[in-house]
Amino acid sequence: MVEVLLLGTGATKPLPYRALAAMWLQVGGRGLLFDCGEGTQVSAQRYGASIYKLDALFLTHYHGDHLFGLPGLLQSMAALGRTEPLTMAGPPGLDGVLDAVLALAGPLPFALCRHTFPDCRGVLALPGGASVTAFPADHRVPCCLYAYTLPRAGRFDPGKAKALGIPVQLWRTLQAGQPAGGFTPDQVLGPARRGLRILYATDTGPTPELAEMARDADLLCMDATYADEADAPKARLYGHATCGEAGALAAEAGVRRLWLTHYSAAVTDPEPGLAAARVRFPGEEAGFDGKALTLTFEDPGKDIP
Ligand SMILES: [Zn+2]
Ligand SMILES: [Zn+2]
Repeated sequence: MVEVLLLGTGATKPLPYRALAAMWLQVGGRGLLFDCGEGTQVSAQRYGASIYKLDALFLTHYHGDHLFGLPGLLQSMAALGRTEPLTMAGPPGLDGVLDAVLALAGPLPFALCRHTFPDCRGVLALPGGASVTAFPADHRVPCCLYAYTLPRAGRFDPGKAKALGIPVQLWRTLQAGQPAGGFTPDQVLGPARRGLRILYATDTGPTPELAEMARDADLLCMDATYADEADAPKARLYGHATCGEAGALAAEAGVRRLWLTHYSAAVTDPEPGLAAARVRFPGEEAGFDGKALTLTFEDPGKDIP
């Protein structure tokens, strides 16, 4: 089960009614944060995301609207008494950015584990078999798009386990994908099942690789800076997308859900853009601050009776 929460959906500057784009994922009580613009920690408090539980923070790129909230967030975590290390990941240039952030935030009682994605590419493994894959955006500066993946092990076969004489107390460990008592999961698990995949894709124009990475994803949260299709040339120039382009990409990729985000401050009403996106992808939904969703496995049944 993964809980998704949009902490903001705006671009360039925070507005009284719209915070800067950021996404929070919560899995097993722990949090992942994607981007941290000015005011992200305020949104976290408003919508109930506990920054104390944050395990890793992924920065898409180093434009201010995606990172100016970082010194304040780190200071607040320190004030909460955090001592566990925090993973910080981002495109090349991360060290320089974090050095500047630390110069502002001052000494912290916890370590920052830095992870740079060279050429905006790579995979960061997370606890429980989950991972975040970075791949490049079409933006004016190096920018990572992120795909979070939570795999789903195959179905546990109690008949096989009994036939092999595996003690019942080892079953859950094997079902969780860990070896136990000299037995291995492949002895008792069927083929891997569909897991969960969530993409955070801003700032970017549509790209073939994004369509490929988003194929059949549970959720694509995508740049929709411009609501008016007439702004498509501007979107190309600045490395963004229109709502309609996001809808077209979602349709091409066959995603299960599309949420639009990173609206320009000029977009006071996303409805015309939504209408354009729905022509291409009827399942499209406007992202909005505080929008939340709990994603569960398709096959949530208990394997072990
Ligand atoms: Zn931006
Ligand atoms: Zn940007």
